[in-house]
Amino acid sequence: MIYKKSPEEIAAMRRGGDILVQTFEKIEAALRPGATTGELDEIAETSIIAAGATPSFKGYRGFTGSICSSPNEVIVHGIPGPQVIEEGDIISIDVGVYFEGFHVDSAWTFPVGDVTAQAAELLKVTEASLDAAIAQCRPGARLGDVGHAVEETAEQAGFSIVREYVGHGVGRSLHEDPQIPNYGPPGRREVLAPGMTLAIEPMVNAGGAGTKTLGDGWTVVTADGSLSAHFEHTVAVTEDGHEVITKRGPR
Ligand code: MG
Ligand code: MG
Repeated sequence: MIYKKSPEEIAAMRRGGDILVQTFEKIEAALRPGATTGELDEIAETSIIAAGATPSFKGYRGFTGSICSSPNEVIVHGIPGPQVIEEGDIISIDVGVYFEGFHVDSAWTFPVGDVTAQAAELLKVTEASLDAAIAQCRPGARLGDVGHAVEETAEQAGFSIVREYVGHGVGRSLHEDPQIPNYGPPGRREVLAPGMTLAIEPMVNAGGAGTKTLGDGWTVVTADGSLSAHFEHTVAVTEDGHEVITKRGPR
């Protein structure tokens, strides 16, 4: 069942979104060759707790990080630790913040120094696919329109959509209904309505769509070792369109 949020509940999520965005600014400032993913995790955890919030991911089904850190061929759910970030890497950082009873969820893939032309194109296209999906969010649109916008954007560029992992509703629980696949025909599935809060999160591979999970039980990588990018925003459907709750930069 899809839980619609009241304007007061969306206001609480907006405050959580502000904490998440500030946390991303601190992570980005520390993201350089030689830093470890564990250091970024510590920065994120300190930032979230100092704001009076709780990291959504820490302890979630036993996950040990406050962020997921997913470099290069890692698609999602990389565990932060001693891994050193290198010049030329791309790295997805996924952050969840729980504040005033609500979760917000956002991910961004960053280039570290100079990256290959293919990596730069993958980042550009995956971000564009998220923007295209968000642009579909308004009352009366269908959930299928959202996934279709991602699929169309990524596949036109010759990249592949990950199918095993999907976006989701977000609110009092980190993962709520509906599931939001990044593919599928437009004009199908649930009708969007004001108060729905959706974590839309395209995961796009430079090579094939296949995935595998490493022995740690969490880290999901591309089956062919190709690069993967991941961008995510928490978006509220409003009376006349949408609001990006986790928008970075000036609101
Ligand atoms: Mg996320
Ligand atoms: Mg998510």
